[in-house]
Amino acid sequence: MLPLTTPAFLVDREILQRNCERMREKALRSGVAFRPHVKTHKATEIGRLQHGGTVGPITVSTLAEAEHFARDGFRDITYAVPIAPEKLARAAALAQTVERLNLLVDSETALRAVESFHAAHGLVFDLYLKVDCGYHRAGVDPDDPDSARLALALASSPAVHFQGLLTHAGHSYNAVDAEEVRRIAAQEMMALSRFRALLGEDLADIVRSVGSTPTLSAVERFDDCDEVRPGNYVFYDHFQATLGSCGPADVAVSVLATVVGCYPDRGSLIVDAGALALSKDAGASHIDPDAGFGQVTDVALVPQRLRLIALSQEHGKVAGDSGEIARHPVGTQLRIVPNHSCLTAAMFDTYHVVDGGRVVDEWHPVRGW
Ligand code: PLP
Repeated sequence: MLPLTTPAFLVDREILQRNCERMREKALRSGVAFRPHVKTHKATEIGRLQHGGTVGPITVSTLAEAEHFARDGFRDITYAVPIAPEKLARAAALAQTVERLNLLVDSETALRAVESFHAAHGLVFDLYLKVDCGYHRAGVDPDDPDSARLALALASSPAVHFQGLLTHAGHSYNAVDAEEVRRIAAQEMMALSRFRALLGEDLADIVRSVGSTPTLSAVERFDDCDEVRPGNYVFYDHFQATLGSCGPADVAVSVLATVVGCYPDRGSLIVDAGALALSKDAGASHIDPDAGFGQVTDVALVPQRLRLIALSQEHGKVAGDSGEIARHPVGTQLRIVPNHSCLTAAMFDTYHVVDGGRVVDEWHPVRGW
């Protein structure tokens, strides 16, 4: 029994440190720059663990993260969401307080907005071009001649220090096994090398920045790229374990919940962790149709023969056979290993840090945009 009000977000310090060290060492061994994403946790304590206990280059998904980490000493930041023109003034203010703030564009329209801002205020922005390596979320098509024209326009614009090409293989999350993930990893790395080669000798040294946890976990070395930006690997989650990015023992986080309703006749329990504690991410249901909304374990993280089948705002509905349900009376604590740790972590203002079964610290992530 852990002495915490539930639902509570638990982070296992030892597993977290191990995950951080493994990925960092792989990047060092591969001789590439390491710019981990901090969007998964948004906590500067974990940002430092990602860099072996100190500050270093990071990737963020909001300006609020960038400002928060900058205040805590992180000086080299990539904001890896295409910049909204209305955010340029805020980004410019931040850029003046750090060594480097890289922004991302994937359109002529965004470049024009940067150039207008430059004309009015004189600031030159460090920019990356977002390239689509098959995820089809954001980014230019590397096979379209207009994309090379946009890259060359960035390179020649007086408003821009053109830093490089950036891609994220989010479609690796749809793969069914490590073999398929490795194929996507190879495509991700190749997409940027091929595209850079089209841009000519003058741009032969711009950075090729890649990153997703499935692809970077599935390969032994990072080849054919200059920088990696993994995020989820710090925590991993039930999805990543199902996909094979990690083993179940590598998942560093869980949500502590209490049984508040026990109905053996109906074959169900209710726990006090609903959608606002866990998020409604469906998990790797393309691999395991019974994934539910997270894996149900006891307090010692032993999986139970129970499935989390439905979530409403503050209720989680758990199904099992009547004998199994009866073994978990009202007041029992359970832990739910989340499907998607980034979204689940974002539900909590406090992370309870656990070591050797005891709560040893509290961390407070940044929230908002
Ligand atoms: N880079 C970008 C642009 C992203 O959007 C993300 C995640 O969404 C990442 C890197 C990190 O991906 P992951 O959390 O799979 O490591």
